[in-house]
Amino acid sequence: MSFKLYYPGFKEKALTFSYDDGQIFDRRLVKLFNRYGLKATFHLNSGTLNRDGFVTKEEISELYEGHEIACHGVLHEFPTHLPQELLVREFYQDRLALETYSGRIIRGCSYAFGEYDERVISTLKSLGFAYSRTVESTGNYRVPEDFMHWTPSCHHNDAPAMLDEFLDNPSFRRLPLLYVWGHSFEFDRDGTWGMMEDFCDGIHGKPDVWYTTNIDYVDYMNAARGLIFSADGSRIQNLSSIPVYAEVEGERKIL
Ligand SMILES: [Zn+2]
Repeated sequence: MSFKLYYPGFKEKALTFSYDDGQIFDRRLVKLFNRYGLKATFHLNSGTLNRDGFVTKEEISELYEGHEIACHGVLHEFPTHLPQELLVREFYQDRLALETYSGRIIRGCSYAFGEYDERVISTLKSLGFAYSRTVESTGNYRVPEDFMHWTPSCHHNDAPAMLDEFLDNPSFRRLPLLYVWGHSFEFDRDGTWGMMEDFCDGIHGKPDVWYTTNIDYVDYMNAARGLIFSADGSRIQNLSSIPVYAEVEGERKIL
């Protein structure tokens, strides 16, 4: 029996963005993403909201509408340097505060300074986080095995160089994911808003690309990985509430 997984809507590629720190330049970046129908995740530090140069807690729900709000630690501390009690506080309080301000459930994270170790990972898992992003760019399109150790494809400065390869993806590379990360203040600092706009223009509106937030990607892949098959593979059950798109025996099915 043959089984071929697809992304939602039978799409063959996925694109997601991840932006850290919640500085005011997020406002311009969100507008850019919205203009092109792109989806992103914004990792915020709840303790720096409303400070000079940062977005406010009053605006985040509306500003990030259609995108994901995720944690980045209350005060952007080095996670690996914190004693256990303060590590728990840094991320649990962040979840509580961002959930209160946004009215959403927050389950995503990115490691401040890209710092993490086994203790940090197990602490975040115990606090209910579904994934956390590192800053180790892979230069490839692989689907992560462990979402608590989510290595992105590239920083946005390297994204234009990956665009053509991603769009002309060879058929042997199934379900590629292009994961681009950065900070919105870099566009202002480096004068690269034009580069980002060109990239968004070049990658938007493709019928075979699933534009998604980090958490929607995680939830979909976990639903796909959680499918239950009979021993001979002929019967399939999906116990999650997320529809899974696949080709079973050459026939497209929504499971
Ligand atoms: Zn940061």
